[in-house]
This record gives sequence, C-alpha cells and structure tokens, in this order.
Amino acid sequence: MTEGTRFKVYCSQCREKVELPAPEFRLALGASRERTFYSFICPACGASVRKIAGERIVAALTAAGVHTMRLLPVDG
Ligand SMILES: [Zn+2]
Repeated sequence: MTEGTRFKVYCSQCREKVELPAPEFRLALGASRERTFYSFICPACGASVRKIAGERIVAALTAAGVHTMRLLPVDG
C-alpha cells in the first residue's frame, strides 16, 4: 500500500460516512481487544471519534503507515 491509502469510516457523532487518508488516523494498541482502538477527527462535524479496532482494521491501518502507539499498563 502507499501513503495515499484512504479509508471510509462512519462517524458515530453525526452519522456521516467520511473518507480520510491514512495519516488522519491514530491507532492505539492496548493489552486487550477492548483497549485497541483507532481514532480520527470527523471532517463533517469536527468530533473526535474513537472506535474499537478489530484485527483486520489494525492490520489495514498499520500497513497503510498509520501512527501507532502502544498502551502499556503503569504499575504503582
Ligand atoms: Zn461527524
């Protein structure tokens, strides 16, 4: 894939289906499925949308060069 990869996503705020290039996404890899999510700013309403990311989405976003951050539990 190239940097020009775009993804169609559904905004949970305004219910608009929007298309965004890979650099607009952030991916957070948590310790469990429930803590692995992707986020983006909806271009239609400006809301910050966060959604649980399934394995296929994680793979697709990673392959497209989306920035990822790994969430680690903090002790103490
Ligand atoms: Zn929206």
